[in-house]
Amino acid sequence: MTLAELQDVAYRGGMPRFVGKQLAEWLYSKRAASFDEMVNISKKNKEWLAANYEIGRVAPSKASKSADGTVKYLFPVGGGRTIESVYIPDKERATICVSSQVGCKMNCYFCATGKMGFKANLTAAQIINQILSVPPADAPHMNPLTNVVFMGMGEPLDNFQEVSRVIEILTAPWGLAWSPKRITVSTVGKMPQLKDLLDKTQVHVAVSVHTADVAQRESMMPAQKAFPISTVMKVLSGYDFSHQRRLSLEYIMWKGVNDDIAHADMLVKLIGNLECRVNLIRFHAIPGVDLQPASDERMLMFRNHLNQKGITATIRASRGEDIDAACGMLSTKSNGR
Ligand code: SF4
Repeated sequence: MTLAELQDVAYRGGMPRFVGKQLAEWLYSKRAASFDEMVNISKKNKEWLAANYEIGRVAPSKASKSADGTVKYLFPVGGGRTIESVYIPDKERATICVSSQVGCKMNCYFCATGKMGFKANLTAAQIINQILSVPPADAPHMNPLTNVVFMGMGEPLDNFQEVSRVIEILTAPWGLAWSPKRITVSTVGKMPQLKDLLDKTQVHVAVSVHTADVAQRESMMPAQKAFPISTVMKVLSGYDFSHQRRLSLEYIMWKGVNDDIAHADMLVKLIGNLECRVNLIRFHAIPGVDLQPASDERMLMFRNHLNQKGITATIRASRGEDIDAACGMLSTKSNGR
């Protein structure tokens, strides 16, 4: 809940409005997991709160640890469904990749989540729970989170109402008080929510491009039909990404599909003068998909070509592949009803 919603709760329970602020402090600064911990709230009010609300902190039901330190967590979200979040430590940083939906409607050909189909939107509480529960309290050796990326299961902008509440809670002074620079939302370019995200928040944006060849993009990403990448780029060009806010274009590289100079040139043309960086991503094979990862040489050649054209491009280090936690691999197939 946002501060305004917590103030409403206090009002409904016949408490003074400032109790809303106290609740926010307990939930987000002190990370209380029960009403009993809230010592400055009267016993009677705590009883009323416990009878009418729940805090919603749910521990992960499973943790799988990669050899590279990445940890994949499985969270129950009711109705026998589960979602995954991935903790990615990197020197002094620790990033959590959160899910925003159970499954996904976008049905990208190369993605394990897309293969699940769409099951449900997560609530803001279920998204925030992933962030507040990782790393778990009994793992003091794990660094606290420094960054959040909305790149797990689901298309975040297809659940924008809840995702924007989460961004408010993460960035507000009464919430976790994080800088928006610590948050990245990834999208296929869903409109009009992309415009809302750009207008109403200051978070970083990552757009999944994957190929600048329109016919090819349409065959691999059905969202291209409804939200053509040329329109997405036009909208993006109306915003300033040269200072605090960062725009990244995500590009998964497939062998013999989008890994040649002609495709690099199409990408250069698509980018034009737009201030952005390109993340080249290694493809991770998933069952039933006849795509192969591009070779290291191809990825280097592609990156160098973009760099020569004045575009910042990097090859993203792959993390958690051994536990099916890398990009495009998240799927709760055994129990993703
Ligand atoms: S790549 Fe992202 S948008 Fe596409 S199906 Fe997978 S989760 Fe959905």
